[in-house]
Amino acid sequence: MKIAIVGGGIGGLTTALALSQHSHDVTVFERSAGIREIGAGVQISPNAGRLLLSLGLGAAYSEISVNPHRVVLRRWEDDSIIRATELDEGFLSQHQVPLANVARNELVEILGNAVATCLNVALKFSTHVVSVEPSDASSEVIFADGSSQSFDIVIGADGIHSVVRPCVGGIDRPRFSGSAAYRALVPRSAVDDLPIDVTNRMGPDRHVVSYFIGRGRSHLNLVCISPEESWEIESWTEQGTLEDLHSRFEGWSPEFLSLLERVEEPVFRWALFDREPLEQWGIGTTTLLGDACHPMLPFMAQGSCQAIEDAVVLARCLSDANTSDAADALRRYEDARRGRTAQVQNSSLMNRDLFHMVDGQEQKDRDLIFSISPPGMSILDWVYEYDALTTPV
Ligand SMILES: Cc1cc2nc3c(=O)[nH]c(=O)nc-3n(C[C@H](O)[C@H](O)[C@H](O)COP(=O)(O)OP(=O)(O)OC[C@H]3O[C@@H](n4cnc5c(N)ncnc54)[C@H](O)[C@@H]3O)c2cc1C
Repeated sequence: MKIAIVGGGIGGLTTALALSQHSHDVTVFERSAGIREIGAGVQISPNAGRLLLSLGLGAAYSEISVNPHRVVLRRWEDDSIIRATELDEGFLSQHQVPLANVARNELVEILGNAVATCLNVALKFSTHVVSVEPSDASSEVIFADGSSQSFDIVIGADGIHSVVRPCVGGIDRPRFSGSAAYRALVPRSAVDDLPIDVTNRMGPDRHVVSYFIGRGRSHLNLVCISPEESWEIESWTEQGTLEDLHSRFEGWSPEFLSLLERVEEPVFRWALFDREPLEQWGIGTTTLLGDACHPMLPFMAQGSCQAIEDAVVLARCLSDANTSDAADALRRYEDARRGRTAQVQNSSLMNRDLFHMVDGQEQKDRDLIFSISPPGMSILDWVYEYDALTTPV
């Protein structure tokens, strides 16, 4: 079948790679001039890591991965450990692949390199799609220059501000979360003595997640979440200042403040939006995938992972589909994915309240529960054990 993917981000490129394993003729339309990725780091949990390996990315993926030894929850004020979970042999034997921290640009680069070797995939850069006209038999992609092209299937993987989404009925606006993420990098040479952990420092109305990323563990990535009354500017990401970042974390532990001292400019601010789970993901031969469909707050570190799961399930649904049953195959994909992604979206929202508790009895109860709950990451088994390669479709 002739398949168009709108958007060449993590979701679109993984979908192209997964579809290339079947005899489809795939075109990815990406508005940027080349493979480009903003943002610094992304955590890839085993549910998605297993899929990247199944797509043949093994060596390249290991080369860009930093595998943390522990996940540590710390208190904002004094850096005391609330809970430390070892990502040990037991974790590995349960989930087959380790948790990986990667630089987003490196992940997109290895996906793009793999896609570029697929003879049945064309990557069209600098191509801005403005809308899609779905129908049962085929779908029409409309470009910014006024031209259009017909495909048997169109997949909207064009991110949270998707232009494809309203064409299949998703006319809601992204919901501003009231928080912004400051993304800052510290060079490894300045923090080489730190353990290789994923650390979540929780404080009133804010939290900070940090982990190493980059080939050769080149940087410590800091994602600092703090309140933001509104987001008026048009762009959802912009350059921030170190002064502003410092001012938002006054009174935090000396260990954390000393990390901020070592941050390399530039610092970016990223507005955090999500949307309610969407009931209808597609019409006729058009569907959605990744953030276009189920954007979530990053508090489960699952947005990219869910896009990767979508890609694999979608490719399975289309593996033996043809033009006469393409729309049915898309509905099977949507039915298989709707519940899972809604659960992760809702859990991400709930984690905001859990991480941002103000000091008091509720926060003490939270910390106690974290500290005495059984060792391991069993609370996340439902996320990590989902298998997109075998889930019923
Ligand atoms: C601070 C922060 C931290 C995060 N941390 C994690 C994490 O640890 N783990 C995790 O799994 N997820 C994480 N996420 C979420 C993750 O970044 C997203 O879920 C993921 O990037 C979604 O991928 P996507 O391909 O669906 O969309 P995008 O990455 O937004 O890609 C969309 C692509 O479509 C292109 N495009 C858009 N419109 C058009 C158009 N009209 N025509 C042509 N092309 C178009 C864009 O240029 C882009 O390349 C985090 C997010 C944030 C904000």
